[in-house]
Amino acid sequence: MAQILVVEDEVALSDLIRSHLEKEGHRVEQAFDGGQALAAADRGRPELVILDWMLPGMDGIAICREMRRKHLMPILMLTARGAVADRVTGLQVGADDYLGKPFSIVELSARVGSLLRRVALDSAAATSDSGLPITFGPLVLDLSANRATLAGSMLDLSRREMDLLELLLRHPGRTFSREFLLERLWGSDFEGLDRAVDTQIVRLRRKLGDLGACIETVWGVGYRFRPELQQVQT
Ligand code: CA
Repeated sequence: MAQILVVEDEVALSDLIRSHLEKEGHRVEQAFDGGQALAAADRGRPELVILDWMLPGMDGIAICREMRRKHLMPILMLTARGAVADRVTGLQVGADDYLGKPFSIVELSARVGSLLRRVALDSAAATSDSGLPITFGPLVLDLSANRATLAGSMLDLSRREMDLLELLLRHPGRTFSREFLLERLWGSDFEGLDRAVDTQIVRLRRKLGDLGACIETVWGVGYRFRPELQQVQT
């Protein structure tokens, strides 16, 4: 059961979603515009956001981008626009999933369930202190030994690169904003530029060789790790 924020200006639809999710045991907060949505995200710490694209004033894409500056919770976008280009844009600004209107409440519920399971797996992985190395294809990240290898060869990674790589590998699909990475990797007292993050990413990508392509740029937001972008080795 989760705390869910529903951002939708059509009151009847918002209420329908709310009552359905509450029946499933979730706690639901409603926001009807961008300002309310951002305030609710900061205050209520929702575990998932259902975000409509078409809203008065600030649209869903802008809200999504803004939320991603501070928050990691999954965002499910709703939209009446079905075009592939729009779908891509939604995912590019850091939404985790997308549902075209009209949708069935059963499907919405299924998507919500799957996103929440993914987060639960993420946090289980993040808090596990098994000490086991994290592996991805030929890459092995052994945190207890503070070393990484690629196809058996030692990778020369700085502490910060290790931390960045760990964060990405532990949260596949999650979009991390530059602000988030800056604070996480450099500390909140660092008066750095977003550019520092970009430079770090470029360096890490280069060191990872072919696997570097799995670190995807999320336009206007930051970066995410997409295992499925791994080039098939022939
Ligand atoms: Ca709407």
